[in-house]
Amino acid sequence: MNLDLFEVMQQEGHEALHFFSDPKSGLRAIIAIHSTDLGPALGGCRMWPYPGVEEAIRDALRLSKAMTYKAAVADLPLGGGKAVVIGDPSKEKTESLLHALGQCVESLNGRYLIAEDVGMTAQDMEIIQRSTSHVTGYARGKGGSGDPSVMTAVGVLEGIRVCFEEVFGNSSLKGRVVAIQGVGKVGAYLAGLLHREGVKLYLTDLEPDRLRQTAGPLKATLTSPEEIYSIPCDLFAPCALGGVINDRTLGLLRCRIVAGAANNQLECGDHGSQLYKQGVLYAPDYVINAGGLINLACEIDGYNPDRALDRVRGIANSLRKVFALSKEEGIAPHEASEQMALARLKRVKSPH
Ligand code: NAD
Repeated sequence: MNLDLFEVMQQEGHEALHFFSDPKSGLRAIIAIHSTDLGPALGGCRMWPYPGVEEAIRDALRLSKAMTYKAAVADLPLGGGKAVVIGDPSKEKTESLLHALGQCVESLNGRYLIAEDVGMTAQDMEIIQRSTSHVTGYARGKGGSGDPSVMTAVGVLEGIRVCFEEVFGNSSLKGRVVAIQGVGKVGAYLAGLLHREGVKLYLTDLEPDRLRQTAGPLKATLTSPEEIYSIPCDLFAPCALGGVINDRTLGLLRCRIVAGAANNQLECGDHGSQLYKQGVLYAPDYVINAGGLINLACEIDGYNPDRALDRVRGIANSLRKVFALSKEEGIAPHEASEQMALARLKRVKSPH
């Protein structure tokens, strides 16, 4: 492994990195806790067939840090963490693996709260709940807030309106063109919301059946995973995996705005600066996609869907503040949101 773990953790400010193995169920899991300064570290669990352990560790470290910033900008009493499970969810996700994963979470005594992410579902959280109480995002009927993806999509939609307001001077969506990369739990729901507002959609996904099923009722145009970057459109919405704004894709983009649900959209900060120089407005991912986390946080004090929706809609204001700071300081939006997150963390660490 070419990764100097302690060096990276110290540079990025991670508190802990836990490795778990359960040979009986085949579980190989990593839980990264970036920060518990604002509260217990909450972050979804991603199950993905990572090519190697190093890729899984890097993902856990990157995603857990983004969760800290997400909670900080959304003003939540939560820290940042993330679990990753190495494996193909369609083949290796068994009840005994989920049970073992729950025991790993339990062993951390509430320092980390699990939820769903790519490759996990609200039903999986119900199984995990049998072995730990530190779970969020399980079924509504059972006292949970249900699948967070719906609120994530609602928050992204609110953020998209702010982006249009910023770039075109009005937030109307009618007649706008949006290209969505990934029509999984969030992307498909977002596509439905945008369609209802009269948006013309271009969609892509690696799963052709899922893509066709989503696109049919929305009269959306199907495109390939490669072509999606160069579709001439008002807004490109990454709703699949991270790192999609990179050296290779920056030159392909023909949109005015990048705003979507995916975590860690920028391969690195320089790519955010490059978007800024190219005149493409970027809505920092952890600001615009915080709807699911806000919804999960509402579960902690007793879930009320109306209150949760109200708080998710507050994403619009957070994003306006990011764009205002970006203009005031002449910095890219991803730098502005980082400043806001760090300022909140600093206030909590040294309140006087
Ligand atoms: P999901 O697994 O349900 O959907 C992801 C979809 O993207 C799948 O359909 C997959 O086939 C597709 N995909 C993967 N790589 C692709 C590529 N290169 N091109 C086209 N399609 C591709 O996941 P989700 O829950 O919808 O989450 C999507 C993104 O949003 C992830 O980055 C996740 O971390 C982030 N996110 C999700 C939530 C949530 O509430 N679910 C909250 C915040 C952020």
